[in-house]
Amino acid sequence: MGKLLIVGTVAFDAIETPFGKTDKILGGAATYIGLSASQFGVDSGIVSVVGGDFPEEYLKMLNDRNIDTSGVEVVEDGKTFFWSGRYHNDLNTRDTLITDLNVLANFNPIVPAHYLDSEFLMLGNLHPSVQLSVINQISVRPKLVVLDTMNFWMDNTLDELLEVIKKIDVITINDEEARQLSGEYSLVRAAQKIHKMGPNYVVIKKGEHGALLFNNGDVFFAPALPLEEVFDPTGAGDTFAGGFIGYLASTHDISFENMKRAIIFGSNLASFSVEKFGTERMEDLSNLEVQNRLQEFKELTQFEIELT
Ligand code: AMP
Repeated sequence: MGKLLIVGTVAFDAIETPFGKTDKILGGAATYIGLSASQFGVDSGIVSVVGGDFPEEYLKMLNDRNIDTSGVEVVEDGKTFFWSGRYHNDLNTRDTLITDLNVLANFNPIVPAHYLDSEFLMLGNLHPSVQLSVINQISVRPKLVVLDTMNFWMDNTLDELLEVIKKIDVITINDEEARQLSGEYSLVRAAQKIHKMGPNYVVIKKGEHGALLFNNGDVFFAPALPLEEVFDPTGAGDTFAGGFIGYLASTHDISFENMKRAIIFGSNLASFSVEKFGTERMEDLSNLEVQNRLQEFKELTQFEIELT
């Protein structure tokens, strides 16, 4: 089992969907990634920053799930990163209403000594210069580095982002972001161009339409589980990424074949995350529920066909 280091936001979110609206609740890319990866019992730690306004009980909830938060700096006189978004009726698209970087604006990450030898590094969505600083602190290159990012950083910090993309193995982005990053509409062409920027593996997430994994000439596709009700898609991408790397870290196998399974595990966990607001569903998810849904997934995608 490989040690997993997660970098990303730990945040307050305020979310509006056609089904309701929340006040400030727990969110952040690293939070979702950590909760998702914790399903595999891996030794994981988060590097992030919060303000003095961040409730200790949230950190305790993560610790109770075996997620080490000693790398989460608390800036007592600062405010926690805040994001607010409103989903459209289709739940596939959303508008960002507010992004207040707050303590993230001047964050200088410090990887705790006991995570300097992490074999798996998940660079969750946050400022690319923070992602780069963490890469540079780890002296022995991890076995696998996965990056997640979003259009906000492409719009505001493209040069730094391209620096990070050069140094990683797997990038996970959604279809619109892949198009923006590559300037190509076709996702196959987009993946080819992104390969040239650095990563050997390109994962393109298509929301309710599943995910594609490209490895130079090879492609794998996994559908998303058709759900009766999607309540809040926030964090689905991060939950997917956490499941993907959590599974790879727990099996210690980074072959293309195993990455296909990791995509299925990631998609499976993401399907739970969207069933309730925020992180609520991921906080009390049982292994039995995960296994049962994996079985559904298997039945959904398996078929016999005779080739003549
Ligand atoms: P996702 O729905 O997968 O894009 O992830 C949503 C999470 O990302 C929310 O919990 C937010 O707190 C966090 N988030 C939103 N915008 C940003 C940003 N610009 N940088 C880092 N994290 C963000």
